[in-house]
Amino acid sequence: MEIISIKPFGNFANTYIIKDESGAAAIVDPGCVTDELKSEIEKCGKVEYILLTHGHYDHIWSAKEIKELTGAKLAVHKNDMPFLADESLSHGCKYFPGEQDVPQPDIVLEGGEVLKLGNSEIKVMSTPGHTKGSVVYIVGDTMCAGDTLFYLTVGRTDLEGGSMEDMINTLEKLKNLEGDFRVLPGHGRETTLEHERQNNRYMSKLDLLKEQYLG
Ligand SMILES: [Zn+2]
Ligand SMILES: [Zn+2]
Repeated sequence: MEIISIKPFGNFANTYIIKDESGAAAIVDPGCVTDELKSEIEKCGKVEYILLTHGHYDHIWSAKEIKELTGAKLAVHKNDMPFLADESLSHGCKYFPGEQDVPQPDIVLEGGEVLKLGNSEIKVMSTPGHTKGSVVYIVGDTMCAGDTLFYLTVGRTDLEGGSMEDMINTLEKLKNLEGDFRVLPGHGRETTLEHERQNNRYMSKLDLLKEQYLG
């Protein structure tokens, strides 16, 4: 299993390609289509899934183009489904008013699913906080974290569906996962869960946050 990281342009999210030895692949968060993304897709066998970590425009924008290119099934958590058809929820309206064109999902996630990808398995973990339908995709010891967990910070919780209380519960769940994980975030550089447990103040001072927000 190999994960390829594709650099986006502008404000778009990082896109990742999860590639099983069999050639089966999944594309996480196709915000923008770049030449690099296209040429990496050409090197894949069958692209089985387009996996959205949540419904913000910068993660979903090119889902239609990638679906048409690959025939892959589109997956999103049920709570962020409305974002795909509503540019004010996705915030696409701020940057490209009237241009959002994202198909409805083929797979509606609730969290807890295990998606088969060749000989690999992708675990879906529900991680509300940034949005109600945010998820993290876990393959082996790597997680595609979307806008839930970043290098030294976490996703904002002040947009539609965001909740600091939910984020705190999500961070506790992530912090308590057994072992270490490579963390591939929706924006910025990659990190590890252990690095964030130690250095990310939202995780290292989680007890203070819980006191403050959850009482
Ligand atoms: Zn984002
Ligand atoms: Zn977002």
